[in-house]
Amino acid sequence: MSGVTGRTQKNTQDDGKQIVVEPGLIGGEVNRILAAHAKKHKLDDMYKIGPDPSSIDSCMIGGIVSNNSSGMCCGVTQNSYHTVKDLRLVLVDGTVLDTADPESKASFLRVSASGRSWRRGEGARGLRFAKAGG
Ligand SMILES: Cc1cc2nc3c(=O)[nH]c(=O)nc-3n(C[C@H](O)[C@H](O)[C@H](O)COP(=O)(O)OP(=O)(O)OC[C@H]3O[C@@H](n4cnc5c(N)ncnc54)[C@H](O)[C@@H]3O)c2cc1C
Repeated sequence: MSGVTGRTQKNTQDDGKQIVVEPGLIGGEVNRILAAHAKKHKLDDMYKIGPDPSSIDSCMIGGIVSNNSSGMCCGVTQNSYHTVKDLRLVLVDGTVLDTADPESKASFLRVSASGRSWRRGEGARGLRFAKAGG
């Protein structure tokens, strides 16, 4: 979720059961990447992202995740909330939280539990800070 670009890392993992994408990518394009991955590797199973809103060929991953998009086929069990594994997100103060990074998560929880708010540039261990323009 950090940054709005249309680039994909094309980081397909676990035989296409997982994919790492940036928020500016169109949902339908992610499904096409997964389909190409299954075809290339001659996999029996071809996976799609969980949410299947009818607008999937025009809406982006950032919007799909923010809206907790669902769809006719996925229902609730495979909506965004239930199928997003990790997020890298930028908080309003510029703090970057990467839920896939245990150290980043631990730092975030530590500061949250302390009840104090983040100070920009605080440099808590495991948290990276967004740089203007970067
Ligand atoms: C024709 C049509 C059919 C639809 N069908 C369904 C359906 O069947 N099922 C269903 O569940 N939904 C459906 N929807 C709703 C759909 O889920 C959302 O419209 C869609 O996911 C939003 O994606 P978007 O790219 O248009 O996002 P936007 O409208 O651009 O953004 C949506 C929200 O997400 C925020 N956002 C976007 N990117 C980021 C980011 N990188 N970081 C943080 N916040 C971000 C925006 O600020 C905004 O608040 C439909 C919508 C349309 C127009």
